[in-house]
Amino acid sequence: MRPFIYDSPLTVQEATSRVAPESAFIAGGTTLLDLMKLEVLNPALVVDINQLSMRGIEMRADGLRIGALEKMSDVAVHSDVTTHYPVISQALLKSASAQIRNMASMGGNLLQRTRCGYFRDPNTACNKRDPGSGCAALDGENRMHAILGTSSSCIATHPSDLAVALVALEAEIHLRGGSTDRLIKLDDFYLLPGDTPHQENQLLPGELISEIRVPLLPWAQKSAYLKIRDRESYEFALVSAAVALDIDGDRIRDVRIAVGGVGTKPWKLPAVGQALIGKPLHQETFTAAAKLAADGANPLKDNAYKIELVQRTIVRALMNLGGVA
Ligand code: SF4
Repeated sequence: MRPFIYDSPLTVQEATSRVAPESAFIAGGTTLLDLMKLEVLNPALVVDINQLSMRGIEMRADGLRIGALEKMSDVAVHSDVTTHYPVISQALLKSASAQIRNMASMGGNLLQRTRCGYFRDPNTACNKRDPGSGCAALDGENRMHAILGTSSSCIATHPSDLAVALVALEAEIHLRGGSTDRLIKLDDFYLLPGDTPHQENQLLPGELISEIRVPLLPWAQKSAYLKIRDRESYEFALVSAAVALDIDGDRIRDVRIAVGGVGTKPWKLPAVGQALIGKPLHQETFTAAAKLAADGANPLKDNAYKIELVQRTIVRALMNLGGVA
């Protein structure tokens, strides 16, 4: 790790005014410190934001508000979250390890960097780490990589389970900077890699995520997260599915579905949802709709298995949630 200057401001205004291009915010540090030790990131200034007033978990008439500095572990067991948004709680509890969840902030979780092994190895070509250097994953090890939203510059998956749940729930994030104060849908916040995979989101220089807002909608309460991975703990998703159902008798009135582990960003599946609306809760219905999940997929030599796995994961998640045997 290279030497750096440490600063610990007391207000958002101070924090956002101090950052410069060669600096980084730190909260839990569970991503940043790893990448600094590997010398993938080398900020000259590290701005500790833990003293900023960006905490609180509050249920309001229009939905849930979560301060960006709340810890993953605290949010996962909060009664408003487990009662009204079980998919958020489940996604958090299936993330990382207990020790990391105790340290990692909600805002940091949404900004964590990809787990592509080449990104984390400064001796390899990686357009995300070193723009214009190439992408070692295209012809290398790509079993864990994305099949949707990829480009010839980058095929890395987005790693956050929480982001998949929040995108399914149509959550917004509140961004604050020196002269900015704005709300943006989380789905719009993340960018596709295109020719500029180093630009992962719409955060402007000096901006930070201050709050997460999740609307209170009919399908949020009946929601769940299913994560398929190589081992049952402390592992990233091969494929995951966040599903939320609004049921009228034995029929689906409305549904939201997003998947992880397959896209270069958390991947919403509106076409799958549309194919389910008005249909009965039945495995055949789910299977027919899930066939649309991999439309537009671009698999490579090691990750074509994800096309079938994402369909099966959606069907299983819907069967579990709908109580279909
Ligand atoms: Fe880098 Fe993306 Fe290629 Fe991985 S997939 S090596 S992150 S450019």
